[in-house]
Amino acid sequence: MKRTLLWIGTGVAAAAAVALAVLVFCTCVFGNHQYRKATCTEPEVCSRCKAVRGEPLGHEAGEASCTEPSVCLRCGIELGDPKGHEWLPATCTEPEICARCEATQGSPLGHDMTEPNYQTRAACRRCGYTEGESLSAALSDRTLNELSVGVPAPYTTASYEDYGVDVTGTVEIVDFKVIDGDETFPAREGYEWHIATVRLVFAGDDAKKNGAQAAWTYGDYYLLDDDMAAREDENGLRPFAADWYGMRVQCWQKTGPYTEADWYDRELRFCWQEGVLVPKGYDGVLLIFYNYRLAKDATRLYLPASAVLDDTVPVFRMK
Ligand SMILES: [Zn+2]
Ligand SMILES: [Zn+2]
Ligand SMILES: [Zn+2]
Ligand SMILES: [Zn+2]
Repeated sequence: MKRTLLWIGTGVAAAAAVALAVLVFCTCVFGNHQYRKATCTEPEVCSRCKAVRGEPLGHEAGEASCTEPSVCLRCGIELGDPKGHEWLPATCTEPEICARCEATQGSPLGHDMTEPNYQTRAACRRCGYTEGESLSAALSDRTLNELSVGVPAPYTTASYEDYGVDVTGTVEIVDFKVIDGDETFPAREGYEWHIATVRLVFAGDDAKKNGAQAAWTYGDYYLLDDDMAAREDENGLRPFAADWYGMRVQCWQKTGPYTEADWYDRELRFCWQEGVLVPKGYDGVLLIFYNYRLAKDATRLYLPASAVLDDTVPVFRMK
């Protein structure tokens, strides 16, 4: 009897052990869940009882490119859209280019060239690229009788009473300045005034007997234009065709308070200021003092520069 009891006792213990083992290894009763690893979108989940622990990992976004979306480095899912290219504008020599990936589209714009002129080479309006040479000045190979400021030079002209009589005196550029404008010479955007103060002095018997005629005209160092000085615009001002990207500028002669023509100490003197409005930096204007006798048969007072200019005629380059 004792043995039987013992056997029974042993059987009960064994059964209990087995049951315990089953509980331990096959259920989660003792908290021993069997968690699967968390994923991007799922937390840890017990494979037995579906208990969950923690949070999903969330996607680990890779770098998007211009043409490819971001991809999760763990699960490979696409996240969002490609960034798209970041186009930089095309230039004269380069097409549109992506700032990120250097992809290109379209074509370069090509240069937008100006015509060369007498001061500058052909240049691109957009990028400043230049090519070729500037045109050569019409007078660059000529000998000019150029005046310097403050240095009187001989000047011959016709007498006032008798064109047949030459009168000789001097011409002097007393002062020369470049200004934007003042009360007398109104400023204009992009332009500047080149102003010369001129003094002509005549003495001697011919001058006393017959008087003297002062005569001057304009020329352009770059374009010795035949009728440049003869034109007048609708305001009665003489336009000046300076070659500067094709712009036309006014020449304006100031007389009145600046003019004196009178006898002083047996000398006949003329004094006045001559202002020419030109694009800033323009250096082509010539003031040409010619013999008035040349105008005798002309139908207009101001002769073309080309008709009166030779290497004896005093010239002041207003630059
Ligand atoms: Zn579980
Ligand atoms: Zn993911
Ligand atoms: Zn790109
Ligand atoms: Zn260009």
